[in-house]
Amino acid sequence: MPNNHATQALAEPAPVTAALVWFRRDLRCEDHAALYHALRVAQKVYCVFVFDTDILNALPSRKDRRVEFIHQSVLALDAGLHALSLQAGGQGSGLIVRYGAARDCIPELARQLGVQKVFTNRDYEPLAIARDQRVAASLDVMGIGFADFKDQVVFETHEVLTQAGKPYSVFTPYKNAWLKKVDDFQLKAYPVEKYAARLASKPRGESIPSLEQMGFESGTWASLPMPAGSSGAQTLFEDFTTRMARYKEARDFPAVKGVSYLSVHIRFGTVSVRKLARFALQHNNDGAATWLSELIWREFYQAILYHFPHVVNRSFQRACDRIVWDSNPGYFAAWCEGRTGYPIVDAAMRQLNQTGYMHNRLRMITASFLCKDLGIDWREGEKYFADKLNDYDLASNNGGWQWAASTGCDAQPWFRIFNPVTQSRKFDPEGKFIRRYVPELKQVPDKAIHEPWLMAGVYLPPIVDHAQARERTLLRYGVLKAGD
Ligand code: FAD
Repeated sequence: MPNNHATQALAEPAPVTAALVWFRRDLRCEDHAALYHALRVAQKVYCVFVFDTDILNALPSRKDRRVEFIHQSVLALDAGLHALSLQAGGQGSGLIVRYGAARDCIPELARQLGVQKVFTNRDYEPLAIARDQRVAASLDVMGIGFADFKDQVVFETHEVLTQAGKPYSVFTPYKNAWLKKVDDFQLKAYPVEKYAARLASKPRGESIPSLEQMGFESGTWASLPMPAGSSGAQTLFEDFTTRMARYKEARDFPAVKGVSYLSVHIRFGTVSVRKLARFALQHNNDGAATWLSELIWREFYQAILYHFPHVVNRSFQRACDRIVWDSNPGYFAAWCEGRTGYPIVDAAMRQLNQTGYMHNRLRMITASFLCKDLGIDWREGEKYFADKLNDYDLASNNGGWQWAASTGCDAQPWFRIFNPVTQSRKFDPEGKFIRRYVPELKQVPDKAIHEPWLMAGVYLPPIVDHAQARERTLLRYGVLKAGD
């Protein structure tokens, strides 16, 4: 069972001469658990990032914004480690970067560098757990240690459990237990700077491969108004701090700048979640409390994935595997391309396709539309989001999809079906967001913007009638009434 923060701090680790820190979804050099622990015990600390071909080769496109975000963040981390070392009186340092299968690259590099231990931050996805076990086993054969640490969440795996010692499957009691347990110690930043003089210089001849050398195109991220790396995260964070108090009121309106837009940074660890949670807890207002709840939703879904890995392919509620979905490639293509005839759905899907981001309210609307208006299996939508979202995270994406499809833990009840027109009127009342992404509707008057079919010929006819689709969905989910 993984150590928790407290036991890590109490145990006195054995000193080592040289260590290697393996960066993954934690691309920053401040408040970094594994880096801190390595620096504390080792005289010399190397740092590595692997562009893992086991992951990259499975991506559907060579124009992937996330790979460019990671690449830019890796360059920034390389510079950040160098500066950190110099500030601490060291010789300068940097990031060793490999392109290959991490399962082979890490043991090989550890051997070449002659380190005694590899340090890393834990990842809770099933494939990542399997990869890490494999790497640890290969290192063990060579007599090299492997230590992993909690970093990407405040509370992990077995730290928030029910009184009976079971994982929670309902959010509110999980959140209450989380809030009861959190304290200053859990949120304290790791003072990496203190030992940064121990950062080792990169071996001679090391260079960082370009995107093109790895077969990816550049220019996909640069077109977005969202900076990468720790400094990019800091810019967004500072901007959000001035708006956090209004988060509760503003967060549901996609045309308003109400949310933090930090998700891609949280996903790749260019910002510390301890810092974000600390900031929210220091502010006693509804906006801060609501935002903290969202950070806790993220940890809840991470815990669900860890304890119930069957959710990767199947419904959390096993009875929901009885639901029979429709196969309709034409409808699915219309949904993907933003051509359903429902302006709010189309604007949202076009935002996703053009930018890699989609507002949370719109993720709920489009996911509900796919499952409950088009009758298509949530797994198809989940996969499409996984391919497109900059912030794609298996736990949150799966949790969000199963919530919308009513197959998940603490999900939307199956008989509650979002009406896309009502949602559109409520959350984009003047159609500002719609007009931004569906230019065909720019000139349509407000009264028809949510239902353009009221004005003949101005827009695509809706591919389904919502009222009829609703009846079909109630029948489809009716199988859940029989049995459990
Ligand atoms: P903010 O509102 O500023 O929230 C702050 C942070 O809290 C987010 O960055 C995120 O880390 C976390 N968060 C917020 N809402 C949720 C939530 N409902 N569940 C889990 N964490 C949350 N989020 C992802 O990070 N990756 C995904 O792949 C993802 N897929 C989703 C799919 C569906 C169908 C749905 C309904 C939601 C999904 N979410 C996902 C959750 C949420 O939509 C995004 O986290 C949020 O829109 C990101 O924008 P933000 O950073 O401005 O969020």
